Amino acid sequence: MTDVLPSGIGMTSARTRARMVERLRSAGVSDPAVLAAMEAVPRHLFVDEAIASRAYEDSALPIGWGQTISAPYTVARMVELLRRGKKLGKVLEVGTGCGYQAAVLARVAKEVYSVERIGQLLDKTRARLWPLKIRNLRLKHTDGTLGLPEAAPYDGIIVAAAAAAIPEALLNQLAPGGRLVIPVGVNEQRLIVVEQGDSGLVQTEIEPVRFVPLLEDTA
Ligand code: SAH
Repeated sequence: MTDVLPSGIGMTSARTRARMVERLRSAGVSDPAVLAAMEAVPRHLFVDEAIASRAYEDSALPIGWGQTISAPYTVARMVELLRRGKKLGKVLEVGTGCGYQAAVLARVAKEVYSVERIGQLLDKTRARLWPLKIRNLRLKHTDGTLGLPEAAPYDGIIVAAAAAAIPEALLNQLAPGGRLVIPVGVNEQRLIVVEQGDSGLVQTEIEPVRFVPLLEDTA
């Protein structure tokens, strides 16, 4: 695999990524498709050059506008929960941010729609994603608490910001058998999975998490 190195000091190489994947495996991520996607996507290209050498650390990093790129474990765990070992069809991501999780999702789903409320952040992300030529990813500047009705229903919806309560619109846009993965809570947040089952919605609490807040309206 060849890398586009920002200022290559070996901290952004395929080998660094392979080590990150080993750590994810030790932390309990086991879905081979998710691990392969995490190994393939050059995470250092999604943060500013000044912090690119820290891109593979197990932490969230700043991406501007008061937002963060989620830690590798968080992304891997959420995508694994969304996939539950099956092929994903159409997926909606709420909270594009720097586009990293969207790029990972595009490797495990047929079609990905990702929405972001901050227009300037999305412009920067579009420019960053352009050279990567990800053909099955569509981005839109909109308030994701309303979902994205124009492409609904979705087999999976993944929310990258914490909601005070689960937005009704997202539940309504789940296909039969579809899954929503969302952090919920204000001071204490929990990762929640909601599945649209044969006899209604089934909600499961997964683990404590820490996310920026899901806000209404666009900026
Ligand atoms: N998916 C990113 C994480 C971005 S952080 C990653 O790969 O790391 C969460 C993002 O959600 C922020 O960019 C924030 O602006 C956005 N966000 C918050 N509320 C939103 C809303 N209602 N609709 C769309 N995006 C929202």
